[in-house]
Amino acid sequence: MIKKLLIANRGEIAVRIIRACRELGIATVAVYSKADKDALHVKLADEAVCIGDAPARESYLKMERILCATVASGADAIHPGFGFLSENSKFANLCKRCNITFVGPEGDIIDRMGDKSAARNTMAAAGVPVVPGTTQPIFDAEPGKKLADSFGYPVIIKASAGGGGKGMRIVRAPEEFVHLFETASQEAKNAFGDDSMYIEKYIEHARHIEFQILADNYGNVVHLGERDCSVQRRHQKMIEESPSAALGDTLRREMGDVAVRAAKAAGYHNAGTIEFLLDRDKNYYFIEMNTRIQVEHGVTELVTGLDLVKEQLRLAAGEQLCVSQEDIVLRGHALECRINAECPERNFLPSPGKIQSIQLPGGNGVRIDTALYAGYTMPSMYDSLAAKIMTYGRDRKEAIAKMEGALAELEITGIQTNRDFQKRLLAEPEFAAGCIDTGFVEEVLARKED
Ligand code: ADP
Repeated sequence: MIKKLLIANRGEIAVRIIRACRELGIATVAVYSKADKDALHVKLADEAVCIGDAPARESYLKMERILCATVASGADAIHPGFGFLSENSKFANLCKRCNITFVGPEGDIIDRMGDKSAARNTMAAAGVPVVPGTTQPIFDAEPGKKLADSFGYPVIIKASAGGGGKGMRIVRAPEEFVHLFETASQEAKNAFGDDSMYIEKYIEHARHIEFQILADNYGNVVHLGERDCSVQRRHQKMIEESPSAALGDTLRREMGDVAVRAAKAAGYHNAGTIEFLLDRDKNYYFIEMNTRIQVEHGVTELVTGLDLVKEQLRLAAGEQLCVSQEDIVLRGHALECRINAECPERNFLPSPGKIQSIQLPGGNGVRIDTALYAGYTMPSMYDSLAAKIMTYGRDRKEAIAKMEGALAELEITGIQTNRDFQKRLLAEPEFAAGCIDTGFVEEVLARKED
């Protein structure tokens, strides 16, 4: 088993990992930038090492410093969390070369799934349905347009190296193609240093349904059911839930089997997510695989009773899966609202700053993952996720009622948050009825302007 773990991350996910380690008796080492010296993960870890200046490229993305901190502190493993180096194959390979256990899959698997265009081909070859689209990377608008014309509009242009909704554009008419391709490609180059693009048919009124999978090193793969992440703004998730109101037992079993097949086709190890789009006719299509723990993993934990981070640590240490597919039963319903430091009235402008006071909700079926505390200053250079509020109920209705209560209790002063906007989303009749797709948030926003 791992004896001492370095957490190459910050914020609530670093805190989440430290808590799992405590339960398993694993010592923890936090790393932090100069902007994070007062951060909660630094206080809670057994040891903490400063790795550089505030910008992530000077600290949380500095591989050599993180590896040095690992060796110097005597840690034998690194958990990368999400974001930062979590899907960086070079980092995973360097860990291996330094004899450090990387909590995640091997570098070549990260590469195979990290290029989203190549991942589509791997999945199609394994018989996993993919959205109709291009099979080769596209670098120029003109050849791209010819292909888009042949698929028929609308199409979506996406970055092969993409993530976080960046480098993506929906094109509804041929005359818009060239301009939108160029802006998407420029955005991809700026964000990922890679302007390799691909094109997919745009699926109207889709739901985003993703399956959590766990895989050990001995060929065993299970899925832990799905998360419905259709409540998104600009392709970024805002509310996630499990199970999805759109799936019955038969479709869940079918998609779950396909997700397991997809993970096997990738030769996958550790925890991962297979993302699908589900159209109105219940056709489903693979869109990408995430080779790391996800922000929204907690809703799966609530309905399965498993601890995904503890499972990741056990699997990384070479243990066999502790459950078989038959052991996994989804019970009840879980919901997560992401509370971001942002101002919905000002086009969701980030609004970090000093937390003057914070009152967190609680009670039966309420879970909060946050690294905030009163007096803490949220730095402006990292992401704006402030807290994840999760609720668990016997059914969807109960989980929503608990979430409404929890959001009403939540009070954070000193920063702006999207709490009231989340309340508004929950109050929409389509949300209550479970009739939502990835266009839901934009529709609500358009109504607001009426
Ligand atoms: P990222 O890795 O940047 O998050 P994804 O490929 O996971 O990108 O897509 C993010 C979101 O963009 C999806 O959840 C969905 O809302 C939208 N999207 C992506 N591809 C399509 C498509 N072919 N048709 C419709 N919507 C899409």
